[in-house]
Amino acid sequence: MSGQKFETRAIRAQLERTQYLEHSAPLFLTSSYVFEDAEDMRASFAEEKERNIYSRYSNPNTSEFIDKVCQMEGAEAGFAFASGMAAVFSTFAALLNSGDHILSARSVFGSTHSLYTNFLPKWNITTTFFDVTSLETVEGLIQENTKVIYAESPTNPGVDILDLEYLGQLAKKHNLIFIVDNCFASPYLQQPIKFGADLVVHSGTKLMDGQGRVLAGITVGNATLVEKIYRFSRITGPALSPFNAWILSKSLETLAIRVDKHCENALKLAEYLEGHPNVNWVKYPFLKSHPQYDLAKKQMEAGGCVVAFEVKGGLESGRKFFDAIKLLSLSANLGDSRSIVTHPASTTHSKLSDDQRLKMGISDGTVRVSVGLEHSDDIIADIEQALG
Ligand SMILES: *Cc1c(COP(=O)(O)O)cnc(C)c1O
Repeated sequence: MSGQKFETRAIRAQLERTQYLEHSAPLFLTSSYVFEDAEDMRASFAEEKERNIYSRYSNPNTSEFIDKVCQMEGAEAGFAFASGMAAVFSTFAALLNSGDHILSARSVFGSTHSLYTNFLPKWNITTTFFDVTSLETVEGLIQENTKVIYAESPTNPGVDILDLEYLGQLAKKHNLIFIVDNCFASPYLQQPIKFGADLVVHSGTKLMDGQGRVLAGITVGNATLVEKIYRFSRITGPALSPFNAWILSKSLETLAIRVDKHCENALKLAEYLEGHPNVNWVKYPFLKSHPQYDLAKKQMEAGGCVVAFEVKGGLESGRKFFDAIKLLSLSANLGDSRSIVTHPASTTHSKLSDDQRLKMGISDGTVRVSVGLEHSDDIIADIEQALG
């Protein structure tokens, strides 16, 4: 298996056939599984054998999804969750104790940021943020009780790139757990474990599903850490539903071909916006003008589906731009086959203060485009008419 290319594994890493010899993996909508006899029942609960007992713990469809993502990310083990945020929260809850400290990039998904500031302090877990453009300050922020370094790359919505190898080495040197949210890249474009990540977190809701249908999350990586996450999660119940896992396993078969097209369309849009008189700046990891273009090239196969730019004229022009959009969807999702425009300041990052937003590089005029799979001419034409 290991000699096979990404695309082949994404398609061929599938469940063993049942007695019906189906070609496409079936859906197992069952909450529990039967035991052969009293001894089987005892041995199963004593965990003397690997088998399905109850779908809060495991299910053939979720196992197939986990197995595929592990193969894509080069991970030893994983656990699948009902959403990306369930994956983020359960990972922290399983690995951290009261009094522990997280060192996190300041630019993280809005709900992850809220988790740090509004909820984790309830259990006496504190967070210090580091600036994504000055990683040399990170080592100085490590405390006695620091347990985790957490980062996203590219970041949301500013598409900044973090040097994963640098952070991975720092984590290793100080015996910290390095967790990377790899959602914006997808495992097709970037595998953080290669750069030293111990765990990789995903919202499967985005590029993995790719068609805006289901919520999902997954954490994969080091088997000892995943075992702790599994122990916590099989008791607390954030498991992914078999139906959503079945959808996702099918979606992963086309991940490579979809993401290639997303990236091609996104680069075309970014190049178009770069010359536009009503645009202050545009950021896309594979645009030569991106401050971390070389690093992006080192870590990623292509730039991903998200382009960020600023409309000239602040909030007022921003609102006009969104009201003029016709084809693209005004929505908060990303990684969908349908292109989506979002205003981070009033949606995904609205729970933050103005100061917190500005520190993350989100101005009132910042627009995030998740570039979809429509023809690039039509995507660009809609944005062109909306920019006026
Ligand atoms: C969407 C997203 C999440 C949260 O995932 P949900 O599936 O919406 O819970 C986490 N991180 C990033 C980078 C995301 O884009």
